[in-house]
Amino acid sequence: MKVTEHIKNSKKTIFSFEILPPLKGQNIQSIFDNIDPLMEFNPPFIDVTYHREEYVYKEVENGLIQKKIVRKRPGTVGICSAIQNKYQVDAVPHILCGGFDKEDTENFLIDLDFLGIDNVLALRGDAVKSEIYFKPEKDGYQYASDLVKQIVELNKGHYLDEELQNKSKTDFCIGVAGYPEKHAEAPSLDSDIHFLKKKIEAGATYIVTQMFFDNAKYFEFVDKCRKRGITVPIIPGLKPIATKKQLNLIPHRFNAQIPDDLIMAIVKCENNEAVRQVGIEWAVEQCKELIKEDVPVLHFYSMGNSSNIKAIASQLF
Ligand code: FAD
Repeated sequence: MKVTEHIKNSKKTIFSFEILPPLKGQNIQSIFDNIDPLMEFNPPFIDVTYHREEYVYKEVENGLIQKKIVRKRPGTVGICSAIQNKYQVDAVPHILCGGFDKEDTENFLIDLDFLGIDNVLALRGDAVKSEIYFKPEKDGYQYASDLVKQIVELNKGHYLDEELQNKSKTDFCIGVAGYPEKHAEAPSLDSDIHFLKKKIEAGATYIVTQMFFDNAKYFEFVDKCRKRGITVPIIPGLKPIATKKQLNLIPHRFNAQIPDDLIMAIVKCENNEAVRQVGIEWAVEQCKELIKEDVPVLHFYSMGNSSNIKAIASQLF
């Protein structure tokens, strides 16, 4: 079933979460071990992130350096299929512009369609780690809105090769990303929302937000989107802080500000177990207010650690 149908059919706020494929070499059991403790909260859908290639540099003979392209976390499609089979829960694979040309995209979508996966979150992806700016593939896309357009075309049965016979239509429900504190590269929140609207006009039917720690930022964002005529569900993305290191990492990597009260509470902690508790309490308070305001879904970024998500969900669902 589609994410938007789950939202439409539910009278109350839904619980859902996002997982990362494990590092190459690990078993799928590590994924199930993360999902199992959260199943009691009945998530109707689970997102699985996509991780593009990275460049690594290895020293070879004669002191020469060899550049290698590696994917450290492959397996998005396989995990989505395994989730649907094992838990009978809809999986939402993330699909990127980065690293994909149009043909790769079409073939990826055909795989998903054949596996009975009918939800995707369409994203541009970040620049490759060693590069400053995002560079599309030759014959790939610069912006997520263009990726959305290709998925919509496939939903109409329009393939890249117009001469194909007996063309079948796919039926993907398409989500896109939104940024309550603007995307890091956007010159302003207004311009970012302007381009967010392009993704909706292209055919996306819901938005999942970047993590935020101050609900006021989310409410203001939703308000601005509504004033701009964006009417689709806007799902808040939530991440409980679990380590002191994240105080520096999160604002830098996700362009999400951490309120002073939360910073001070974390700074006072003597160890990461205490930080984890503060993170859980903060997220519970955020969630209670969001539920009161009738948000469609509470969507958690698990980042490979479901124990704190479980601690939060058990106080709410
Ligand atoms: P876009 O919507 O294309 O926007 C990118 C930037 O370009 C923005 O600044 C926007 O304002 C601007 N822009 C858009 N259109 C135009 C235009 N026509 N002209 C000029 N400027 C324009 N990354 C991963 O690698 N894997 C994942 O699985 C993943 N999952 C994510 C899930 C969520 C919920 C979120 C919020 C992010 C996720 N990301 C993931 C990160 C995401 O890929 C990055 O934030 C990326 O830098 C932007 O992606 P986007 O789809 O929002 O890009």
